[in-house]
Amino acid sequence: MSSFLTDIFHSLFSLSSSSLPPKTLLQQSHNEDYEYGIGSGLKHERPCRACNDFKTWIKTNRNQQSKQQQQKTDNNNNSELIDKIRSDCPLDKDELGRNTWSLLHTMSVYYPEKPTTDEQELMKNFIKGLARFYPCETCAKDFQTEIHNDPPQTETRHSLSMWWCRQHNRVNKKLGKQQFDCTKLEQRWLDGWSDGSCD
Ligand SMILES: Cc1cc2nc3c(=O)[nH]c(=O)nc-3n(C[C@H](O)[C@H](O)[C@H](O)COP(=O)(O)OP(=O)(O)OC[C@H]3O[C@@H](n4cnc5c(N)ncnc54)[C@H](O)[C@@H]3O)c2cc1C
Repeated sequence: MSSFLTDIFHSLFSLSSSSLPPKTLLQQSHNEDYEYGIGSGLKHERPCRACNDFKTWIKTNRNQQSKQQQQKTDNNNNSELIDKIRSDCPLDKDELGRNTWSLLHTMSVYYPEKPTTDEQELMKNFIKGLARFYPCETCAKDFQTEIHNDPPQTETRHSLSMWWCRQHNRVNKKLGKQQFDCTKLEQRWLDGWSDGSCD
């Protein structure tokens, strides 16, 4: 290699290794620079709140702030924690998950017992859209793989609600959480517990 080419190579190499800012926790876990929505190309200045639980989100935000801003953050720390107990702040990953599961399970126990072909098709498209647009990117990618391996069962109310129960249990397992007993699905999401505690 001529010295001219060697110089260019070195300047390019040193640019790529030393000029880039260090990756934040969020970037390391998502490999995307604050991209919101899979393939959306939308970049934001702050990390994706819906992709992280609240603690990680706060930690990641702190990592990317300058020392001057750090002091300001510490002063604002209390108000950030107050955000957590407010109900009108953007959702973190867990809040988004809980709210979404509530909708999905409730929807499935109210789904027609014998849906028409059109209704089945609409439900499949809804699930496909959810997997495409779910705001937590890693969750969405994982969900896309799952619906490829275990396609939605929209033939009856029972098959759909059991399919969602299975999907949710799969995520529970991944996160080290307890498995839900799918025979209790209707008590949890439709009728209330048989001991009458929801009445
Ligand atoms: C499609 C989807 C994919 C997700 N993927 C990820 C992921 O990859 N990584 C990640 O960190 N988070 C993911 N989440 C979020 C995660 O599943 C939880 O919602 C979040 O961690 C909050 O958990 P939680 O313990 O509060 O209760 P949740 O798991 O949200 O459950 C809410 C309630 O649902 C009931 N329930 C639990 N399991 C079942 C079941 N199998 N069937 C019926 N009802 C049930 C229980 O009563 C529980 O209290 C995903 C959410 C969705 C909707």
